[in-house]
Amino acid sequence: MKTLDTLNFDNRFARLPEKLFSRVTPRGFARPHLVAFNPDVAALLDLDPAEAQKPDFCAFFGGQKVLPGSEPLAMKYTGHQFGIHNPELGDGRGMLLGQVRNSKGETWDLHLKGAGQTPYSRFGDGRAVLRSSIREYLGSEAMHHLGIPSTRALCIIGSDEPVQREKTEHGAMLLRVADTHIRFGHFEWLHHSSQPELLKALADHVIANHYPECRDDTQPYARFFDEVVKRTARLMAQWQLVGFAHGVMNTDNFSITGTTFDYGPFGFLDAYEPGYICNHSDHSGRYAWNQQPSVGLWNLNALAHGLSGLIEHDALVASLQSYEHALLAHYGAGLRAKLGLQEERPEDRDLGIGFLDLLMKNGADYTRSFRALATLKTTGEKPALRDDFVDREAFDAWLLRYQARLHAENSDDAARRIRMNAVNPKYILRNYLAQIAIDKADNGDYSEIDKLYRLLQRPFDEQPENENYASLPPDWGRHMEISCSS
Ligand code: AMP
Ligand code: MG
Repeated sequence: MKTLDTLNFDNRFARLPEKLFSRVTPRGFARPHLVAFNPDVAALLDLDPAEAQKPDFCAFFGGQKVLPGSEPLAMKYTGHQFGIHNPELGDGRGMLLGQVRNSKGETWDLHLKGAGQTPYSRFGDGRAVLRSSIREYLGSEAMHHLGIPSTRALCIIGSDEPVQREKTEHGAMLLRVADTHIRFGHFEWLHHSSQPELLKALADHVIANHYPECRDDTQPYARFFDEVVKRTARLMAQWQLVGFAHGVMNTDNFSITGTTFDYGPFGFLDAYEPGYICNHSDHSGRYAWNQQPSVGLWNLNALAHGLSGLIEHDALVASLQSYEHALLAHYGAGLRAKLGLQEERPEDRDLGIGFLDLLMKNGADYTRSFRALATLKTTGEKPALRDDFVDREAFDAWLLRYQARLHAENSDDAARRIRMNAVNPKYILRNYLAQIAIDKADNGDYSEIDKLYRLLQRPFDEQPENENYASLPPDWGRHMEISCSS
């Protein structure tokens, strides 16, 4: 077990050419205090969880002191924001503290979000607010436990420093932990600013550390891009299957390893509304929930431009063309699993889409409806789920098709129920649940953050004592508009 003083830093990003970043110093909070601590992430770093009780913990992760071995830096990158390339981006309020290697040989990026201004802050204050730090902390943990690649967070440190957004909020810092903070936008920057040597160095770094299987390929860069396409396609399928809306799918928020990255105004679907826009500032619906798969491809296209100095045009195009098939294969398999089907049959797609169509037309809840489907019997009485549908006839018609399909593969009710409950979560981070935790935290009560943290660690389990956390949102909690400013 390591202490704060003995974390095993191995800062491989800081060893890359200096042009890729700027060295920075965090600007600490005057009176930092612990808001939330994640012992599972401490374990990833081999950090003794008892360290969280020491005053130094808040000093290090509240930006007052620099951890021994850490070499804080702000990464430079660019990216397409809402379709427009912005050359001015970079870590404007987050700092990469370095990489920590654990006893398993894994290496984790430590990134302190909200630690003050950097050369890339533009007009920003370099700060993050408690509200969005809580949302990122819980959202990333929820995604991880849903089995979806995601960044994580070690802790949130609070302060009494006022931070001005639409209204005055509490400043906070979040210690984000991820396999990497290298984004699509890194490659776009190096391409559009004509720095081919640096671009090659960064690509080699990513391949060596995150795509080692590509290194010995006859075309390592082309193979690497092909893998990024596949990982991104799988990630988009996973988001759609669980009803996750990212909200700001700019290419600087897209991780090069296909990991859910940069939680802003994200949301999970309540009622199944394919056009759901979770980002209050997304007036055109560019990042609406049902646009996500195509935006994933759009972003890969921007990355392909970024890599066009390293990879033949035809190879880039071939990889991009494989995206749709990869996404649909993951999505199709995932939807079949959500329906509890084991065999693959041509009619499955229509059956799945038929259910989604029913949900949409009846305004039914996405998560609860799939979860309830597991209780359905192949024969016998009408399920309670039926009452959630205004159009009962349409539901009955779909149910007949579904039951016939289950019969066709001799589906066993009990076994199917277990399988379905392992893929259809009972508990998700609904916006209103996060909001309750935020409202309490604004009044100094952090207990609900920890409560949700524990709840979301077991999203697929029945937790009878927490049944109310699986309820439909109250009226005030539907259609919450989440501001992009964080
Ligand atoms: P985001 O929307 O959080 O992905 O941020 C987009 C860009 O704006 C990134 O380059 C951020 O570092 C920068 N940024 C966001 N908020 C701030 C802030 N409060 N101060 C400085 N830079 C910021
Ligand atoms: Mg970002």
